[in-house]
Amino acid sequence: MSATEDAASGSAAGPRPVEGVPCGCDEAVERLWEYVDSELGALDQQRVEAHLEECAPCLEEEHIEVVLKQLVRRCCKEEAPAALRMRIHEQLTVLRLRTGTAPEV
Ligand SMILES: [Zn+2]
Repeated sequence: MSATEDAASGSAAGPRPVEGVPCGCDEAVERLWEYVDSELGALDQQRVEAHLEECAPCLEEEHIEVVLKQLVRRCCKEEAPAALRMRIHEQLTVLRLRTGTAPEV
């Protein structure tokens, strides 16, 4: 049997994350919470980071998540329920839209 056969004809496999290649906006936003929580693996962490470096909207989103995280940390020791996170997130987004700047804590 040949172990190299899979690798040689591996074009059938779907696209795989490649080191140093930024992920898309959808993926970045989806993973932001884990990103700011340092829960991502090194490779995913790098990819989100690379995306944030070149995508201003997602970088802003990341700042919101960081603020959100600090708020949640302050309010409760436990991980905030998704519903609460959503509510705070909405508030922060509204706040940002009104003032035109990121909310300060
Ligand atoms: Zn983006």
